[in-house]
Amino acid sequence: MIITSYHPFAMQITKQHVLNALDEIDRVGIPRNQRSTKFCVVFNGVHYPPKCVLKRAYKSANGKDLSSLCGGPPTNDRLAAIDVIFKPILCPTKCGNTCKVV
Ligand SMILES: [Zn+2]
Repeated sequence: MIITSYHPFAMQITKQHVLNALDEIDRVGIPRNQRSTKFCVVFNGVHYPPKCVLKRAYKSANGKDLSSLCGGPPTNDRLAAIDVIFKPILCPTKCGNTCKVV
């Protein structure tokens, strides 16, 4: 995997920020329009949508919203660069995060 200066904000987000994001999602759920379509971050057996996780981690780190974010590799590579445990997988069941959608 190659992380270039194209991904500067990946360096500002720490593992703790991502854990904060997962905790927030556990508490408030996932907006219907932010569900996974293909990839999931799997943590403690729970599936989370990568874009939603990265957006919330960014906000936790920087206190503001990340305006635009493309799904797929741009998101997945950033999460994997923060910590390999957050590397999204191609969801075998296309779960759509149904257990957490609000
Ligand atoms: Zn899934």
